[in-house]
Amino acid sequence: MGPPGAGKGTRAGAVRKLYPIAHISTGDILRENVKSGTELGVSAKRYMDAGSLVPDDLIIKMMESRLNEEDAKTGFMLDGFPRTVAQAEALDELLKKMGIQLDAAILLEVDDDIVIKRLTSRRVCSACGAIYNVIAHNTKVDGVCDECSGSVIQRDDDTESVIRNRLSVYHNETAPLVKYYEKEGKLRRVSGDGPPDEVLTCLASIKN
Ligand code: AMP
Repeated sequence: MGPPGAGKGTRAGAVRKLYPIAHISTGDILRENVKSGTELGVSAKRYMDAGSLVPDDLIIKMMESRLNEEDAKTGFMLDGFPRTVAQAEALDELLKKMGIQLDAAILLEVDDDIVIKRLTSRRVCSACGAIYNVIAHNTKVDGVCDECSGSVIQRDDDTESVIRNRLSVYHNETAPLVKYYEKEGKLRRVSGDGPPDEVLTCLASIKN
């Protein structure tokens, strides 16, 4: 968990190098659906473009089917889900049915002003999803992905007005999950501003 721009996707990518488990990002799944024009993608697009949350029923159905895929059988890391208390409750039900438990809910903490600075300068590869930043970590060749040579673009929802809406949605709808996982004793707080290794260290301590 964490506000938009906290670095959830970037850190999850790093964690995955250490623990080869499925990285399941609801944002990535939704963007793939938008790109390929599925029914889900068409329904989700207007919410995503506005920086609002896609309705819980669509997300929960999508995650139910994703968590039943083969690669999730040996563990997974959820990125961007759950984002509402209703989603967290649905996840609990789903995990109960699967006979498994969450190890931890990691909260990446970053201040709003840093989020705005980060996201307005964020760029992503439209082919492989690699994440860049025009200030801190740009591509070697302008607009071309270092990893796959795909075209590197700005996400439609990374403009300042949409970012402000995403932040207010985060504070209103997702922040209450902090209490939810705190009560369950699962919450681990990590600074999203700290050195990249910090999330790995945190995860390693959970594993031990
Ligand atoms: P992200 O890539 O995680 O920043 O997600 C991009 C957008 O996808 C969000 O602003 C929402 O519109 C939508 N989205 C992603 N995950 C969820 C979720 N768990 N619940 C509702 N909407 C979501």
